[in-house]
Amino acid sequence: MIPTHHPDADQLLAYASGTIAEWAALVVACHLTYCPECREEIALLDDVGGALLDELPAGEAPALPPTELLYAEPKVPKTRTFVNLPPDVAALPRPLRAFFKDDAPRFRFLAPGVRHVPLSFEVGGIPARVIRFKAGFKIPEHTHEGEELVLVLDGELRDTVTDEVFRTGDLSHREPSTTHGQNMSPSGDCTCLVISTAEVVPTSAWGRFLKAIAGV
Ligand SMILES: [Zn+2]
Repeated sequence: MIPTHHPDADQLLAYASGTIAEWAALVVACHLTYCPECREEIALLDDVGGALLDELPAGEAPALPPTELLYAEPKVPKTRTFVNLPPDVAALPRPLRAFFKDDAPRFRFLAPGVRHVPLSFEVGGIPARVIRFKAGFKIPEHTHEGEELVLVLDGELRDTVTDEVFRTGDLSHREPSTTHGQNMSPSGDCTCLVISTAEVVPTSAWGRFLKAIAGV
């Protein structure tokens, strides 16, 4: 299945030029494992960037921002090897492997109908996670104080406000101050890489309960 919801042009450009935050680079890298269209776009941007650099007179290469700005968070080991990964964890996109929090990563209970693989970094104080929602699970409506990136790794969900459907490889990117919920397809579990850059504010009692016990 080919994704239909992609990172926006600015994100791809920032990824190609290495000026993207590392947590956003991880989301794009995982999307690329599903998306031939964006892989082609990145290859094209690499070619254009290389050609532009080739045309610059020697010594006039553009200054890059300091790496501590690009990679302020997260700090993680770059290479880790795992033996005997459970099949459902082994099936996750390979770029995630450097970011598993546990030495023996597996899906753990987070809330009724919600399991997760914790990742080793936070963005804006919010832990990044791979979350598996049970078929038919409804994420209650909530408002974002920051951005929310949800990359569907397996399964299908529907946005309650835009009515858009996101399937395997699709990226949902919500801007701050927007309200929505997400309903998982009843036809199967849905696994997502979920990164929020600030707290979400639940707008219902069930949402407040879920946040209290699971922090989601
Ligand atoms: Zn794409």
